[in-house]
Amino acid sequence: MLYKPKKYLGQNFLIDKNIQRKIVSACDFKVDDTVLEIGAGRGEMTRYIKDKVAMLYALEIDRGLYGFLKKEFEGERNLKIINKDILKFNINKFFPKSKNKIKVFGNIPYYITSPIIECLLKFKDRIDSVYITVQKEFALRIAAKPGSKDYGSFSCFVQYQSVPKILFFIKKNSFYPAPKVDSCFLRLAIRSTAAVHVNNERLFFKIIRSAFNQRRKTLRNSLLDIVSKDKLDDFFLKFSLSPDIRPERLSLEDFANLANL
Ligand code: SAH
Repeated sequence: MLYKPKKYLGQNFLIDKNIQRKIVSACDFKVDDTVLEIGAGRGEMTRYIKDKVAMLYALEIDRGLYGFLKKEFEGERNLKIINKDILKFNINKFFPKSKNKIKVFGNIPYYITSPIIECLLKFKDRIDSVYITVQKEFALRIAAKPGSKDYGSFSCFVQYQSVPKILFFIKKNSFYPAPKVDSCFLRLAIRSTAAVHVNNERLFFKIIRSAFNQRRKTLRNSLLDIVSKDKLDDFFLKFSLSPDIRPERLSLEDFANLANL
């Protein structure tokens, strides 16, 4: 198909056939799965996936590509092409609670990676797992463990609700046009219960965000405005942590302990 990719829609099409196949087999789709694809593009992944699953819903925001896909896949009984923005798509409404949880798939547009992940996690009760291609730096941040330089508030946010795993790296020239950086194929296995018990999620995330706001500071200094000195001292004592600890050393459990205290 002759088509000029639109940069503002994050159109980087995956053209490497070997990688396409590698991705589909890594997804481990089952014949009774319902899958939502984000950004079907020219439908190259769509074609592989529809043959493996019970039902595939493919979102594409671009009207031109949508028209192309409709024609290309006319008459397919287990595929529905939808001309919608994933950020405005209500998964709860679309996929009834009575049915199995869905799997989400996407070589997603890089310009809205975090909003897409945030949006999907809002519907985590309806989702079994998410398979996405994201920029390498971003994947490293999502999957980072405490103590590593990539560990930050987004790692905590995602790991609280899912178990991320980097499945493999993808070179930038597997895409057309090639983006500036390499990518990763990533799986988020959505947790049915959160990673740690938290009494007040708003406070928990507020503490995490503030803690990482100035990551060179000690925890004590970054949290100065929201947690009193006495409370912090209690926390360090009770959980045997150094009062000079830096935020990137704290696990989700530590942050939960602090918020619950
Ligand atoms: N899956 C295809 C295309 C990847 S490029 C492939 O692997 O080759 C990303 C695709 O997402 C583009 O087709 C782009 O038009 C679409 N897209 C961009 N923003 C979107 C949004 N908000 N909602 C749904 N699709 C979007």
